[in-house]
Amino acid sequence: MFPASFGYVAAHSVEEALKLLTQHGEAAKLLAGGHSLIPAMKLRLSSPRTLIDLGTVQGLRGVRADGNALVIGALTVHTDVATAELVQKHLPGLADAASVIGDVQVRNRGTIGGSVAHADPGADFPVILTALNASFVLQSTSGSRTVAADDFFIDFYTTAMKPNEVLTEIRVPLPTSGTGTAYVKLPHPASGYVVVSVGALITRQPSGVCALARVAVGGLGGSPIRAVASETELQGKSLTPDVIAAAVAKAAEGTDPEGDTYASAEYKRHVATVYARRAIEAAVKRAVG
Ligand SMILES: Cc1cc2nc3c(=O)[nH]c(=O)nc-3n(C[C@H](O)[C@H](O)[C@H](O)COP(=O)(O)OP(=O)(O)OC[C@H]3O[C@@H](n4cnc5c(N)ncnc54)[C@H](O)[C@@H]3O)c2cc1C
Repeated sequence: MFPASFGYVAAHSVEEALKLLTQHGEAAKLLAGGHSLIPAMKLRLSSPRTLIDLGTVQGLRGVRADGNALVIGALTVHTDVATAELVQKHLPGLADAASVIGDVQVRNRGTIGGSVAHADPGADFPVILTALNASFVLQSTSGSRTVAADDFFIDFYTTAMKPNEVLTEIRVPLPTSGTGTAYVKLPHPASGYVVVSVGALITRQPSGVCALARVAVGGLGGSPIRAVASETELQGKSLTPDVIAAAVAKAAEGTDPEGDTYASAEYKRHVATVYARRAIEAAVKRAVG
């Protein structure tokens, strides 16, 4: 499988990438790790006339703390997210997700920015980043704006990002004391992509009461779905086994997934409750003050 012929230009700064985007218009595409775009080009699902390589842009890699947020550069590869000390210490749920993406090669080349920009419904990062209330910094020639995960992921392969914008960084609020995070997925046995996955963030007060719950489910629609009914069951209540059971029972409430050759809609909805239990229980276990 060969892609249609295309031009290639390397950008050396975000400003240069933005200038090139303006120059080449919508016939151009940004290239990061190439692990979603190149396969799509080979399948002729995408045929950009020009690729603008971000791989040569400095300053978009790595994880740092900035006030109350952890800031992850858009070009940070999955392995570096999974192994970053700051991520492992403060957001183990994000490390869970980064470490189960694809295989070693994919994790060494694919970038977190490319993953969220591509917004594959079977991707891992969108789900956990929604649970973690992350936001995305988008730069264009007219300035920068920040979009929260709840507003960023719109549908299958569709985000709030405009064609003239570059995603530069992902900001994740640093959890308050007593917060635990976790991510679990049922991978498709052939591709490794998400069949169903759940990300959870739970803040537990010293009394045992749940102060905050954010639960996001992947695989039940075109983009991550907040399990609002589960969150409502948890918030303000003691995190007893009965309360958790009531919450997980509602993890697929209001969803209408499509069945496919591997998993029926009914199976996906059931698996969502099983994985919601695993994610919530793991987050509660990690929620030590
Ligand atoms: C065999 C295989 C298995 C995989 N398994 C999984 C899996 O289990 N879970 C999972 O989540 N993913 C999986 N992936 C996808 C992988 O994580 C990709 O690396 C990722 O989705 C895209 O990142 P990338 O850096 O390769 O982006 P690219 O392929 O370079 O780009 C993807 C899209 O994002 C745009 N883009 C990239 N960076 C930016 C930016 N900074 N600003 C604006 N737009 C940008 C590009 O223009 C393009 O449209 C798999 C991929 C392969 C090949």
